[in-house]
Amino acid sequence: MIVRCIPGGSFLTNSYIVADEETKEGILIDPGSQVDEVLEEIERLGLNITKIVNTHAHIDHAAGVEKAKRELGAKFYLHPKEEPVLLALPESALRFPEFGHVDVPEIDVYVEEGDSIEFGNYTAKVIHTPGHTYGSICLLVDESVFSGDTLFAGSVGRVDLTGGTSMRELIRSIKTKLMVLPSHYKVYPGHGPFTTIGTERRSNPFIAGGIVLF
Ligand SMILES: [Zn+2]
Ligand SMILES: [Zn+2]
Repeated sequence: MIVRCIPGGSFLTNSYIVADEETKEGILIDPGSQVDEVLEEIERLGLNITKIVNTHAHIDHAAGVEKAKRELGAKFYLHPKEEPVLLALPESALRFPEFGHVDVPEIDVYVEEGDSIEFGNYTAKVIHTPGHTYGSICLLVDESVFSGDTLFAGSVGRVDLTGGTSMRELIRSIKTKLMVLPSHYKVYPGHGPFTTIGTERRSNPFIAGGIVLF
């Protein structure tokens, strides 16, 4: 499996290209303001990306979706509960002028808990993890989890931004949906470095017990 991480923008948001090395088919996760670099990398690798899947619709993850859709001729996948966050993009663009004018992309496919998104010989399984936003999802591909802003190396996402629910729900999502995965599974977050499920289970203070929320 090919995994390319392209961080970009003022929030250093990670966009991921995930593809089958054999068939060259792949998906694009969270194209933000670094969309031009992402598109160049897709071209350089000779990949056929027909699906854009967002972990959630905050501006730093979604500012480049419309352009990527147009250039790649790809379909856009999002959880239905994330639609209000997507529709708030123009408002967010006013608050964060560094993103410039942001078009709201049309959602082509709604994805929910347990859905499968196929590319080449791989399948991305949708895990609904509300907390950071109502419609945040994580994607499980083989032994890798693309965790968006739900889980970071040593931390977790904020719940006080557009669409955020509660810290209690976020931690519940992480504990019941992600920490049940095998320790050696890799975690590719929406910001910052990669980690593993085992490392976070052992040492993430929000999960390992340092902070009591229940
Ligand atoms: Zn976010
Ligand atoms: Zn983010």
